[in-house]
Amino acid sequence: MSVRCPLCGKEFKDGRGLAGHLRIHHLQVVPTKSQRIKAKIDALEKENRELKQRIVELEEKNRELTEKLESYSRKKKEGRDV
Ligand SMILES: [Zn+2]
Repeated sequence: MSVRCPLCGKEFKDGRGLAGHLRIHHLQVVPTKSQRIKAKIDALEKENRELKQRIVELEEKNRELTEKLESYSRKKKEGRDV
């Protein structure tokens, strides 16, 4: 039983032949399952890196605001005490 490439109609003896053809000739059009998964992992790792960077920035901002807040409440306290 032969199989036919769904993209270009070329016939193959078996699924393995078709799989090889798809990999070689239709790489961009039909990524294999592992390629799709790898692309997904790459995207998630990129997102993860960006989120970690964002966390670092937010922690920095948080430190600044906490210092500012402490400074203000110190001033407020001093003002009331005087
Ligand atoms: Zn084909």
